[in-house]
Amino acid sequence: ADRIVVKIGTSTLIRQNSKINLTVIKELAHVLSKLKQAGKDVVLVSSGAIGVGMGVLNIEKRPIKISKQQAVAAVGQAELMQIYNEAFHEYGMSVAQMLITRDIIDYPESHTNVMNSFQELLSMDNTIPIVNENDTVTVSELDHHTKFGDNDQLSAIVTNLVDADLLIMLSDIDGFYSANPLKVPDAHLVPQIGTISPNIIAAAGGHGTKYGTGGMTTKLKAAELILKHNQQMVLTNGKNPDIIFNILSGEPIGTLFSKA
Ligand code: ADP
Repeated sequence: ADRIVVKIGTSTLIRQNSKINLTVIKELAHVLSKLKQAGKDVVLVSSGAIGVGMGVLNIEKRPIKISKQQAVAAVGQAELMQIYNEAFHEYGMSVAQMLITRDIIDYPESHTNVMNSFQELLSMDNTIPIVNENDTVTVSELDHHTKFGDNDQLSAIVTNLVDADLLIMLSDIDGFYSANPLKVPDAHLVPQIGTISPNIIAAAGGHGTKYGTGGMTTKLKAAELILKHNQQMVLTNGKNPDIIFNILSGEPIGTLFSKA
């Protein structure tokens, strides 16, 4: 894969005690910097703004009110980018913040603008674009007209948009299981999925932690978009981002969503 998109979920970035997992961020910065320096095109889609914001503001529970969530996300996004910036600087890299909304699908002009920005950023030697949904502009979790809903689908849209070969989705679980492992202890990992069948959809349960958002349902929606464009997606555990090297060297890791 010469062009890859990596999505990291909140449950990987934020510890249960609201503290950000710096080890993961540092290792992620190391891996992505090495890939970029080896000539690959790399885009990072990062969740975690609300989780980081909760830590900064000392908030215990994820706010229910949308405007509160947006405010917390705005605080967290600045902190998160500062942390990424420092981590990537260690490897001589800078980061570019791309906050996007559904406009890029609905309006051709917005679509073109985002495409052009990606093209410029990807042509830069020492820069990694970091994408998140622009939470202060989008309206509500349920309003699909303005909001992607979660970064799972956003990362698939970005993968389509930049025509990447592969989307690597880093979560807190080793892959897609035959059932939610939290509820069904003997569920087994499914190594490859070629079509999102009703059986697969039925196997996706809700989210596992207080910070995670989409659970498996939104990851399957992302996978559907990826398969539709004949692209590939690997879903795996992000606790050691080094695993990205293993994936790219062709090792069977996590769940591969691929038609072939
Ligand atoms: P992220 O923050 O990485 O997006 P989420 O918490 O939203 O992660 O989703 C991952 C969680 O989805 C897992 O920890 C697991 O508890 C839950 N889950 C539900 N159904 C399944 C399944 N069939 N296979 C794997 N995980 C599942």
